[in-house]
Amino acid sequence: MNDKFVYAPGPTSVRENVRLERAKATTNPDIDLEFVEFYKYTCDKIGKIINTNNPVYILSGEGILGLEAACASLTEPDDRVLVLDNGIYGRGFKDFALMYGGEGVYFSDDYSKAIDVEKLRKFLEADHDFKYATIVHCDTPTGVLNDLSKICPMLNEYGILTVVDSVSAMGGEEIRVDDWKVDIALGGSQKAFSAPAGLTMVSISESAKVVMKNRKTPVVGFYCNLNIWENYYTDKWFPYTMSISDIMGLSKACDNILEEGVENVLDRHEKIAVATRKAVVEYGLNLFLEEGFSNTVTAVKIPENIGALKLKNHILNQYNTLIITSLKPYEDIILRIGHMGENARIEKIVYALNIIDKGLKDLEFKTDKDLVKLFNKYLKQ
Ligand SMILES: *Cc1c(COP(=O)(O)O)cnc(C)c1O
Repeated sequence: MNDKFVYAPGPTSVRENVRLERAKATTNPDIDLEFVEFYKYTCDKIGKIINTNNPVYILSGEGILGLEAACASLTEPDDRVLVLDNGIYGRGFKDFALMYGGEGVYFSDDYSKAIDVEKLRKFLEADHDFKYATIVHCDTPTGVLNDLSKICPMLNEYGILTVVDSVSAMGGEEIRVDDWKVDIALGGSQKAFSAPAGLTMVSISESAKVVMKNRKTPVVGFYCNLNIWENYYTDKWFPYTMSISDIMGLSKACDNILEEGVENVLDRHEKIAVATRKAVVEYGLNLFLEEGFSNTVTAVKIPENIGALKLKNHILNQYNTLIITSLKPYEDIILRIGHMGENARIEKIVYALNIIDKGLKDLEFKTDKDLVKLFNKYLKQ
């Protein structure tokens, strides 16, 4: 199981120093006050990466926990929630709003582009009576990147809180939580942070905190109640035993990002993503998106006569390499190249592109080009 070359848009490869960190001896996170300091220090590092002074928390649960917790903590019966839908995760957010008694209203847009900000502005002029809006930063199944720098301040002007799923962008795409007025920013350890799966990172603005605290009805549930975190630092108390080894790993992964420098990390993602997109197109394939490309993942259309699933299976059987397709309804249409976090390294992307090239040619894809050569050509420019 562990000898495969795995190249997916999460979970991404984990650097050795992060893996080793998780093997270290641990203290008792419930009673050792040093752990409280360590936890806060780790949260502060995440805050630095996502450009916020808002409190940041690490929840024990994979990214989905954060999405659900935000909706659970904000939604009261009959609250209207605006669900920005230009991708599969974007659309799916509505389920969480409904589960907690809210009324979800879609703003739906073309799945092959970033959200049209002007169209959203017109929509809001006509209807802006929403408690909060859900926005996906990078919608991973198609790799579309939405412009938070425009969307979130606009929603903020209407007094609509913003809940942003940046699970597959944070750490690979710029996110300026404070400047862009993101009320709740959600991240996951296993995507561009390149720590193992299992943790959610969440930042909460003062406005969101006030709304959550002044609810008329109590939050349903405990694990998904974000209010339980508010005083952990002053009270030196955690709502449940923290996943200390996972947090030690995440902390080291943050060090890796900060030591390389956030700017350099973003630059590395951009260079690799741009060269990948150009190479794929010149090679003779089409990108799924027309515009709004995220630098963390590239969705490539696989010709119908081959099919993405067949290509994926062939690559796995023939080359022991796991490169994944997309989610329904795109599972046989899109192959995803997940160049995020530690996957955004030249040696890894080159290996992945080489296998994709071989796999396609094995399956009779007609081209006289070489995907790796094209990638290298564009990487230099
Ligand atoms: C990965 C991801 C999540 C977390 O969900 P899983 O599919 O369970 O890993 C949430 N939102 C986005 C956009 C993601 O890419």
